[in-house]
Amino acid sequence: ETIGANFRATAARLPDHPALIVRHQGIRWSYAELAARVEDFAAGLLALGLQPGDRVGIWSPNNAEWVVAQYATAWAGLILVNINPAYRLAELEYALNKVGCAALITATAHRSSDYIGMLNTLAPEIAESRPGALRAARLPALRHVIQIGGAAPGFLPFGAVAEGGRTGAARRALEEAAGRVQFDDPVNIQFTSGTTGAPKGATLTHHNILNNGYFIARTMKYSAADRVCIPVPLYHCFGMVIGNLACTSHGATMVFPAEGFDALETLRAVAEERCTSLYGVPTMFVAMLTHPEFGGFDLRSLRTGVMAGAPCPVEIMRRCLDEMHMREVTICYGMTETSPVSFQSAVDDPIERRIGTVGRVHPHVEVKIVDGEGRVVPPGTPGELCTRGYSVMQGYWGDPEKTAEAIDAAGWMHTGDLAVLDAQGYGNIVGRIKDLVIRGGENIYPREVEEFLFRHPKVAEVQVVGVPDPRMGEELCAWIRLKPGEVAEEEEIRAFCRGQIAHYKIPRYVRFVDAFPMTVTGKVQKFLIRERMAEELR
Ligand code: ATP
Ligand code: MG
Repeated sequence: ETIGANFRATAARLPDHPALIVRHQGIRWSYAELAARVEDFAAGLLALGLQPGDRVGIWSPNNAEWVVAQYATAWAGLILVNINPAYRLAELEYALNKVGCAALITATAHRSSDYIGMLNTLAPEIAESRPGALRAARLPALRHVIQIGGAAPGFLPFGAVAEGGRTGAARRALEEAAGRVQFDDPVNIQFTSGTTGAPKGATLTHHNILNNGYFIARTMKYSAADRVCIPVPLYHCFGMVIGNLACTSHGATMVFPAEGFDALETLRAVAEERCTSLYGVPTMFVAMLTHPEFGGFDLRSLRTGVMAGAPCPVEIMRRCLDEMHMREVTICYGMTETSPVSFQSAVDDPIERRIGTVGRVHPHVEVKIVDGEGRVVPPGTPGELCTRGYSVMQGYWGDPEKTAEAIDAAGWMHTGDLAVLDAQGYGNIVGRIKDLVIRGGENIYPREVEEFLFRHPKVAEVQVVGVPDPRMGEELCAWIRLKPGEVAEEEEIRAFCRGQIAHYKIPRYVRFVDAFPMTVTGKVQKFLIRERMAEELR
């Protein structure tokens, strides 16, 4: 099945049911209303002259237009390219040219980003060009720039594209194009988070991400009665697959609290919209749980939710269960390259399994854990996690070499993550291979030390990395964000560890910080912590 067909079927089944609530835009659309907008915009894109397989970039924070663009491109057989809303000029130029975007849908502005100003700098030709006839020296493939929420010179307003899709000819062209879309056509190029370096563009098909969204929803027992709070970015698979596709494949309601993550607005959205499910990376849940107004919200409508994207501290999972009423909260493990989810705890897994592991492997996905020589290791032994199945991406767009490094000839995706499988098949993510610290020949998993330091009553968040050391090879370093109003000494942290964890796991360096370097998806970029420490210690 294609995403377009699946979406149309849900809209036909539940026309009057709420599909989308966008609180910061005051939007509340039923499935019929959303589908009508998607159809207009899909036909409008084709009426611009775009051909099936053309790439359409979207550079925007979360809003209703994002959802319309997501389903419209899929319906029309176009490929949506998710562009990080935090990108600046050089990164934008790189991404658009890397995949040869013929059209770009852009927001007007977001936080400190003036998208229109940046585009005018990059391509001054836009302001002088007739819509559709753009020729820009630095963006050679780009023909159309579509603006959400504005009408700057040379930019096509989003609404005008939809308007152009309302003619009989445009509708017939859409019907014809939609009939040719195959389930294994690429539908989306998603960039990875950039946690370990430059983001990579993964090419994903309808089959890849629609099925993944469907199985995620099924694992969480979604139905039309669910109202899912999505504070994570849509540009990332967490928002557009675990969020939107899981919802639309089951007729659930998508609720967006704000343009970008905002802890207070998220709590308010859950309480006021009576959400049943809430998503976030661990740092987002920490921000909500430690928000001074946390206690003022009634969160009892929550049933489930997803924590994913980075190691999920046991302590935070417990608080989600106890203080946020997320009795059936699940952890997902996955990566952009695998659509994304490969492991997920089921809502009926026992609690100890649900908070301490990433659950079991998803339906129709194969996994193996291998040692450095590629041999499968026995249960209980850490090694590199490899996954195979319908969910593995086609490849990195335009990068056969990187693709071949990641996916081997037998179809196994090498994740770069260290994992352990127990005898019952529950998985545990030990950390990224790149983050493993080797101190004087001793392997240290930063995750383990982080979990321990989390138990310190003054610690709000902690990240542990290895820093180069001439004698030991690497030394351990902890960056700690303290709870509001707390102060602590380096020595106090080390004293807390003594006698509790092995001496070589006690951080040699402890630094107290207000914030960590982070991706837009809310993940801590440890490589930048390492770089900053290396500079400090030089
Ligand atoms: P990049 O590949 O650009 O460095 P990234 O790997 O963070 O960034 P994503 O595809 O967004 O990009 O994230 C996938 C990674 O996130 C996984 O490979 C894994 O390291 C981590 N991850 C995801 N879920 C979990 C989880 N539940 N527990 C621990 N780590 C997780
Ligand atoms: Mg990655």
